[in-house]
Amino acid sequence: MEQSLSPGLYIVATPIGNLGDITLRAVEVLRGVAAVACEDTRVTGKLLHHLGLKKPLVRYDDHAREDDRERLLARMETEPVALLSDAGTPLISDPGYRLVRTARERGIAITSLPGASAAIVAITLSGLPSDRFLFAGFLPNKAKAREEVLAELARVPATLVFYETAPRLDATLTAIGRVLPGREVAVARELTKKFEECRNGAPADLAAHYAAHPPKGEIVLLVAPPADEDPENFDVDALLRAQLTDAKPSQAAARVAKVTGLDRKTLYARALELK
Ligand code: SAM
Repeated sequence: MEQSLSPGLYIVATPIGNLGDITLRAVEVLRGVAAVACEDTRVTGKLLHHLGLKKPLVRYDDHAREDDRERLLARMETEPVALLSDAGTPLISDPGYRLVRTARERGIAITSLPGASAAIVAITLSGLPSDRFLFAGFLPNKAKAREEVLAELARVPATLVFYETAPRLDATLTAIGRVLPGREVAVARELTKKFEECRNGAPADLAAHYAAHPPKGEIVLLVAPPADEDPENFDVDALLRAQLTDAKPSQAAARVAKVTGLDRKTLYARALELK
């Protein structure tokens, strides 16, 4: 096997919790590579140990120094090198984009081995429409920026998929409740692990549930598509009231205009009435 693997970059997806999800092909390729580039050498070292493999590990992320990336690229010209992230599919909210981009520009052979990715597990598990979805990675940390991104995505006719962390879940559900109050949301937690759960509901109900039962572990958050693209179907008063709790009528009108596509002046007039 070792001789048969040709030089190049091998992008290898790894389990997101259940080690049984490593693929046969991933093990075969990991056995054959000359080196493994990874985010955290301890995490990947443990996985390789579990597989009974020992390989030179090179720490890599997209903020790596230019000369470190160059060394890795030079190595791929003559040897097979794997790229792994701590868990799941590299490049999906994980390092690798710059490496792949440069490798492709230089004509280095690239092979991507499919495997676990939390976004895909969550979309299949959630019961939300799976025919069209938009993966949006992590929302910004700051409240204003987070709401802006949600407003930007409000009219996308697709299930929205976000990566989330337990400490931020409450703030994100609150933001969704303000910007997209009528949507069904799914919280998919600890996927492929012992305490896996997927809980669906209205943002406010889920926020209340998780306030009473603080969540642990890793989370994917999904938001159902708009029920109907007809702007008449937005509960404009509810959206304006939510925004008026911390914004002036003009700001509230601007934000709701972004979400609904409705006329800003009309919304401003209504915001003044509601204030
Ligand atoms: N590249 C990975 C993938 O393909 O899924 C994602 C890496 S990203 C840095 C980590 C985020 O993925 C977590 O914060 C969480 O949102 C999601 N995630 C990873 N494993 C998960 C799991 N077992 N259950 C739920 N979400 C998970």
